[in-house]
Amino acid sequence: MSRTYRNWAGNQVCLPAEILTPSTPDEVAAIVARAAEHGQRVKAVGAGHSFTSAAMTDGVLLSLDKVKAVESIDSATGRITVGAGMRLTELNKVLDGAGLAMPNLGDIAYQSIAGATATATHGTGADLGNLATTIVGMEIVDGRGQRIWCDETERPEFLRVASVGVGALGIITRVTLQCMPAFDLRATESIESLDDLLESFGDDVAANDHFEFFWMPGARRCQVKRNNRTADPREPESRMTYFRNKILTENIAAGLVVKVGARFPSAAPRIGELAGSSVKPRELVDKSYKIFASPRWIRFYEMEYGIPREAFPEAMSRVRDLVAGIGEPIFFPVEARVSAADDIPLSTGYGRDSAWIAVHVHKGGSYETYFQGVEKIMNDYEGRPHWGKLHFQDHTTLASRYPEWDAFQAVRAELDPAGRFANAYTDRVLGPVRS
Ligand SMILES: Cc1cc2nc3c(=O)[nH]c(=O)nc-3n(C[C@H](O)[C@H](O)[C@H](O)COP(=O)(O)OP(=O)(O)OC[C@H]3O[C@@H](n4cnc5c(N)ncnc54)[C@H](O)[C@@H]3O)c2cc1C
Repeated sequence: MSRTYRNWAGNQVCLPAEILTPSTPDEVAAIVARAAEHGQRVKAVGAGHSFTSAAMTDGVLLSLDKVKAVESIDSATGRITVGAGMRLTELNKVLDGAGLAMPNLGDIAYQSIAGATATATHGTGADLGNLATTIVGMEIVDGRGQRIWCDETERPEFLRVASVGVGALGIITRVTLQCMPAFDLRATESIESLDDLLESFGDDVAANDHFEFFWMPGARRCQVKRNNRTADPREPESRMTYFRNKILTENIAAGLVVKVGARFPSAAPRIGELAGSSVKPRELVDKSYKIFASPRWIRFYEMEYGIPREAFPEAMSRVRDLVAGIGEPIFFPVEARVSAADDIPLSTGYGRDSAWIAVHVHKGGSYETYFQGVEKIMNDYEGRPHWGKLHFQDHTTLASRYPEWDAFQAVRAELDPAGRFANAYTDRVLGPVRS
């Protein structure tokens, strides 16, 4: 019997012909081969944490939740080979057990490895690429159901291209990741004015391993996070303090702000200020992965754009002006981050050091006017939308923003000539498979 599938945010839903949960790469290959015989489309889903319809299908939906075996882990080289369906939360613990860590992570760690890397999920750090840049080997099941391994020596071009495949090249079953020795971070959180942050952005980004800030529309001040590597003794938060900061303030109180704001829109600026002032300065030292990721209880919709880093202060000021004139109160923060350039053709960081501007509204809220307004600004900077977050671009507007677009399409045509892994999202953002 067919069942519906819904993403985390609840804004994407599909009715696949079948939902299957294979346990091994061999089973994945057999399912794809069978689908090819029957002319069915196939799509893999990770944790369903994309806001776009990237993982939706009316064909066969494959959850790789069971494909998560640790094949090898080498503390000396920092390399781990693991089933690609493993969630980042689990990966972090496995790595920690071997004295290793991911060099960087995003705000959450619920995603699967394959899902996070397929959309070029990133954290923040001037010299750190997105998560896909840690891939040094992978196995991909192609459109005919063949298992293909690629790494730095075996089919290196496949590896380079398929590291960010937007789910369109095949089903990734195993990955080798280049990790690093486990490290601790000193997290320093403060409240600072947006004007000052725009002025000192370049210096802050250069002076900190991981710099980011959150600005609540309507407020003058921002919550700023500076995370830096340290050898100092650990000073983790007590359970009580963690609950107050991460659960009460960032989730429960923020949820209330959204509810009250929706009911009394005229109070928006005051609520924005209050929400800003409820966040308190904070300092702690803990394992890196515990500092990077936070729980996210409130559901929301998000769009995020990567732009050339030097354009950030101007672009962010324009977003502030847009919000002031938009006439609709917004109760979710705008987030600012950075990432380093890489050479993966469809990576949002391809060839340029990026700054990131992410805008959010609460689940069920209307976002079109706001997000389209921000997207228009980002277009002026050749902005690249996060593949897993909402946007209004299509392949005709995106192709010129990726200098190696054709290299991607050539590998796609080789791995998936029949468009087995296409769906409405890839049709829109990548176009048809080239013959
Ligand atoms: C609360 C929240 C916080 C977030 N924070 C961040 C953040 O800090 N930084 C950031 O950059 N992004 C962030 N995101 C976005 C998120 O990281 C991406 O959308 C990511 O792709 C989700 O991973 P997933 O495992 O849920 O993949 P899914 O959403 O399930 O799938 C994403 C894509 O990957 C493909 N895919 C999945 N598995 C495979 C596979 N085995 N083989 C081939 N293709 C596959 C799917 O078909 C789809 O195209 C956040 C999202 C949410 C909801």
